[in-house]
Amino acid sequence: MALKITRPLGTEDITPKNINKWYTVEHIARETAECFGFKEIRIPTFENTDLFLRSVGETTDVVQKEMYSVKAKETEFTLRPEGTAGTIRAMLQNGMLNDALPQKVFYILSCFRHERPQAGRLREFHQFGLEMAGASDPSADAEVICLAKTLLDRLGLKNIALNINSIGCPKCRSEYHKALRAYFAKHEEKLCDTCKSRLEKNPMRILDCKSPICAGIAKDAPVILDYLCVECSDHFQSLKNKLNAMNIEFTVNPKIVRGLDYYTKTVFEFVTTDIGAQGTVCGGGRYDGLIEQLGGNPTPALGFAMGIERLLLTMESQNCDFMENQTCDLYIAPMDAAASDKALALAQAVRSDGCIAELDVMNRGIKAQMKYANKIGAKFVLVLGENELQSGEANLKRMDTGEQIPVNIGSEFNSAFLEQLNNYRLDSVINALEEEK
Ligand code: ATP
Ligand code: MG
Repeated sequence: MALKITRPLGTEDITPKNINKWYTVEHIARETAECFGFKEIRIPTFENTDLFLRSVGETTDVVQKEMYSVKAKETEFTLRPEGTAGTIRAMLQNGMLNDALPQKVFYILSCFRHERPQAGRLREFHQFGLEMAGASDPSADAEVICLAKTLLDRLGLKNIALNINSIGCPKCRSEYHKALRAYFAKHEEKLCDTCKSRLEKNPMRILDCKSPICAGIAKDAPVILDYLCVECSDHFQSLKNKLNAMNIEFTVNPKIVRGLDYYTKTVFEFVTTDIGAQGTVCGGGRYDGLIEQLGGNPTPALGFAMGIERLLLTMESQNCDFMENQTCDLYIAPMDAAASDKALALAQAVRSDGCIAELDVMNRGIKAQMKYANKIGAKFVLVLGENELQSGEANLKRMDTGEQIPVNIGSEFNSAFLEQLNNYRLDSVINALEEEK
C-alpha cells in the first residue's frame, strides 16, 4: 500500500532505533552547559514575526528567504528560525535581566528555515544553543568559546577548526560600510538582485551571500578588521590572548560575518571538513545591541548555537561513541490467565526498583513469546505457568548463556528477586545473581 501522506521535504523522523544518538548529544550538552553554570530555558515554537524582523534583520537570508510565517487571526507569526531572539524576548518578558547578571541560559530546540534541503541542511533542524547576558568583558567571550570547545571534545569530535573574527560595533561599521559600498558599487551590475538591494541598506550582508558570483566578488572586498575602533580592536586582542592562554587553537578569518544581523564584535564558527559543504557545526558571537533593540536596557550579550544534525553527521563519520539504547531487563512470559495476573504484579515490582520489565500483552504461546523476548533483547526471561504459581518458585533464564537460575516469586519476591535485578547493566545483574547463589 502506498503511503498517502509523507513527511514534508527537509524534515526527518527520529525513530527509536536512533534515539540513543540524540540522547547522547542532549545529555552531554546539558551536562556541559550546567557545569559552566548555565540553566535550561524553554521558549515557544512560534513568535510574533516582528521579533525576528527586528533582531535577525530585514536584509538577512533568514528573513528575506527562509522564514515560515503565517497570518493567524490577524496576527503574523513565524516558526522560530533560531533560538536567540525568542530567548532574549523571554529574558526581558520574565524580568530575568533585573536579577543578578550575567544571566546564563541554554536550550535544545527545533528551528525552521525554508532552505534547499541537502545533507546537513534541513527545513526543520535542531539546535543546542546558549546565551549569556550582562557581560561585556572578553573573558565572557572566552568562556563561551571554551564551553563550545569542551562540548565538542566531550562528544569525542576531532579536527574541528575554530575560526574567529571581529565585526566591530556600529561605530567602526559606518566607516566600513562606506568602504564596502564603494567596492561593491564597482561590481553592482553583476550582483544578484537581493544583493543589489542590500548595497544601500546593509552592504555587509553581501559578504554572506551564497550565490557564487556574489561570493567571487566578495573575495576581494575590504575586511572589517582594518576598520575596527580602538575598543573593538582591544576586545579582539584580549580574546585572542585568553584563547592562547587556554591553549584553544584558532584561526582569525576576517571573512566571517555570520548570517544574522545582530552580531557585534566577536563572531566565531567551529567547522569540520568531514561532512561535506555544510561543515559549520557551531556558530556564535556577541550581540551587544540586541537587548536594547528589543526594548530592554542596553545590555551586552553573547552566545552560540550548534546544529545537532550536523554534530551527529560528524560524530557518525568519525565513529564517535554513542550511549546504548536501553533494552528490556526482564521479560515475563505467562502461560495462562492466572499467570498473566501474576506477571503484571511481578513486572510492577521489578519496575519499582528501576528495572525495565515487559510482559506478554498479545496472548501468545510460549514459543512466540521467547522469540519476541529475543528480538527485543531481553536480558532475562521468567516463564510463569501453573507449576510456578503453585510452588512459588520459577526459573529465571539468562538469555545470553541460557543459564537457568531458580528464584522465589512468592511473598519474598520483592527482596530476594529485586536484589538480583537491581541494575540496568547486565554485569551488575549477573554479579548480583552470583552473590545470591
Ligand atoms: P549556514 O551558513 O550553514 O547556513 P547559518 O549561519 O545560517 O549556517 P546559524 O543561524 O548561525 O547558521 O545557526 C547555527 C547553526 O545551526 C549552524 O552552524 C548549523 O550547525 C545549524 N544550522 C543552520 N541552518 C541549518 C539547517 N538549515 N539545517 C541544519 N542545521 C542548520
Ligand atoms: Mg543559513
